[in-house]
Amino acid sequence: MRPLAILSALADEQAGLLEQLQGAQRVAHAGREFWCGQLDGLPVVLALSRIGKVAAATTSAALIERFGVAQILFTGVAGGVGEGVQVGDVVVGSSYVQHDLDASPLFPRYQIPLTGQTALAADDAVLETLVAACHSGLQGLQHAGRAPVVHQGLVVSGDRFVNGAAETRGILDALHLHGHAPLAVEMEGAAVAQVCFDYGLPFAAVRTISDRADASAHVDFAVFVQDVARVYAQRIVSAFIQRVFQRLQLSQPRR
Ligand code: SAH
Repeated sequence: MRPLAILSALADEQAGLLEQLQGAQRVAHAGREFWCGQLDGLPVVLALSRIGKVAAATTSAALIERFGVAQILFTGVAGGVGEGVQVGDVVVGSSYVQHDLDASPLFPRYQIPLTGQTALAADDAVLETLVAACHSGLQGLQHAGRAPVVHQGLVVSGDRFVNGAAETRGILDALHLHGHAPLAVEMEGAAVAQVCFDYGLPFAAVRTISDRADASAHVDFAVFVQDVARVYAQRIVSAFIQRVFQRLQLSQPRR
């Protein structure tokens, strides 16, 4: 069985998963660390995406070429930019756009040159499993006195940490003008989606909202990742793996 790749954006998010990894084997490759093993009996490869689109693309390509993964699941944090998307909520990306990609007038703005693609969609089946895993995994949790809301929609990625109201406004206005209304902004998702698109691999990602992409975006970032995102990622991935298992069992022919 080909392994499932679990990509985390930050070390704190990965720590909880590493603690649970059975038969852990560390492989150094492409200047990165990959952890092969099993989670609840399911073969997995854990890796840190690293920050930014190119770094995440390198990690994804290595997972596919070197480790032969069957699909990539991404967990990370992001800035909430959609209405009602609050710190402590999660956004499951149903599609991905690079907000800093602009090869116009040669290609329409935001279009990935030579692919004809602009918004890359997550895999339907993985997306459905992930949304269900978010609901069950986060049950009973609260942040700032409020149960986390699970949103689903467009996530945009670019090579900058967005932390100013005017900066966010500029990015959103240009996206809206072209018919894109994102819920969250981050720095890797669309790159991983593009690599998976090129290789024909299923991809889905979930982001815990750590900030509102405004001037206070960096405040308490580390504490939030450690206290909240780490717990969310662990719970969501566990629930996701349970569901993948159930699906596998259901698909086994009965004897
Ligand atoms: N201080 C961190 C670096 C954070 S970089 C460290 O020490 O490692 C920001 C990370 O969070 C990236 O993975 C990015 O995808 C995500 N992110 C969270 N909020 C963001 C925002 N407002 N804009 C862009 N990326 C954001």
